[in-house]
Amino acid sequence: MKKEFRNRKIKMIDVLLTIMIVFLVMTAIVLIFSESNSSQQLKSVSSHTPKKDAIKIDQTDSKYEGIKIVTETSNDPLVKYAIQYPQSENIEFNEEVKNHISLVKKSYLQSIDEVEKDKNKKKSELNISFETYVDKNENYSFVLMNNESLPGSMQSSEIQTFHLNPKTGNQIGIKEIFKNDPDVIQEVTSRVRKKIQTNDELKKGLIGHKMQIRTEPKWKNFENYTITEKKITFYFESGSLKDQTAGLQIVSISLKKMDDLLKPDYQVVGEPPVRADEPDTIPEDDIKEEKEQEESSSDSSVEEDSEVQPTSEEKSNDKQIALTFDDGPDPHSTVQILEILKKYNAKATFFMLGSRVEYYPDTAKAVKDAGHEIGNHSWNHPDLSKLPLAKALEEINRTKAIIEKVTGEKPTVFRPPYGAYTEQLSKQTIPPIILWDVDTLDWKYRNSAKLFNEVKRSATNGSTVLMHDIHQSTADGLESVMAYLQSEGYTFVTVSELN
Ligand code: ZN
Repeated sequence: MKKEFRNRKIKMIDVLLTIMIVFLVMTAIVLIFSESNSSQQLKSVSSHTPKKDAIKIDQTDSKYEGIKIVTETSNDPLVKYAIQYPQSENIEFNEEVKNHISLVKKSYLQSIDEVEKDKNKKKSELNISFETYVDKNENYSFVLMNNESLPGSMQSSEIQTFHLNPKTGNQIGIKEIFKNDPDVIQEVTSRVRKKIQTNDELKKGLIGHKMQIRTEPKWKNFENYTITEKKITFYFESGSLKDQTAGLQIVSISLKKMDDLLKPDYQVVGEPPVRADEPDTIPEDDIKEEKEQEESSSDSSVEEDSEVQPTSEEKSNDKQIALTFDDGPDPHSTVQILEILKKYNAKATFFMLGSRVEYYPDTAKAVKDAGHEIGNHSWNHPDLSKLPLAKALEEINRTKAIIEKVTGEKPTVFRPPYGAYTEQLSKQTIPPIILWDVDTLDWKYRNSAKLFNEVKRSATNGSTVLMHDIHQSTADGLESVMAYLQSEGYTFVTVSELN
């Protein structure tokens, strides 16, 4: 009896032990699994998305009606980006732009992952910016450019264009610009090829067979385009016409030269003829600018004469010029401009927008640290003359505060957007208002050669030159502008230093 009881007791202990062992094993399995899961999750959080508090999203009005600018930045040092894109009143357009942005972002984040696998902890950065063009029918072309820099690989930049008729909400494909004739695409191809083969910049380093394939007569080869009142521009990605290192290729052709192929809405027949010496940087349609063009031709002949017999004044060393850059800072073009200014030992003035100083504090600080003067250009670029005084002052004060916070110093000069202000505003205690006498119209032409021509034509001793450091074409054209001005004996000063 006692023995039997004992046996039962042992059996019970056996069962209990077995249950305990099974329980422990299961717990261990569950723990191991959840452990590996959570570490995987942690890893993907750290490498796939920036920290929440590092992301900033903001929306501002642009100078184009119905178009807002969305800016998204991440200051997370592991996942750094600055993205800007347009949004309209059209849902479909907005979705397409957003889809593009999220694809670029996704591929960038995946690239970071690959870099991290190589245990390379250097900085990577993504920038997406865009430019807006308007055609004669008031339709918009947007060029979104993404610049990606990853450690160990070359900086790459690519482009995607979007098109919008703001009234109908329609997106305008390349086929809708040209006539419906099947021969038209053949002609477009041959004119684009001709331009590539005859333009000095474009033909440099051209790889013939690549170009032939990339410009085959198919509409999809030309779908990355922009159109203005004067020209149509096609964009070809890095490595498609030349070696990868040559970067993106941009081919502009005046509408005049495409006229017979265009749909009537886009034809420019009957408008003033294109000047022979400037085939692709066409005269403007308004009378004032027509007049400037006239002056331009007479000026250049005067300049040719003076080159034969330079006067002593022209070669003297006490000529001063103040270069000014508005609407920045921009993490790419402003930085490029700083490098060029440094090369020429030049000081300049940057009239910054508060909203952009907030997005790109490092760039604003770099401008200050390089010894340039910083001016206030309002927060959002509104026409201050149309705002109530209190609102206008708010634009100025908010910008003053962010510039002081970021650079450590208050802006010393002020330039109202569009040069527009009221007498009432000028009587307020704000820094001196600085306008300009040389308008390069760089924001309008986006053409480096044109920038050079404008400066050469108009700059004199004591000039204040208006440019915009947010345009790549301005950054690209600055080097030749500086070289020319230096050869003419100018020294480069800030607006406050200008006598
Ligand atoms: Zn401006």
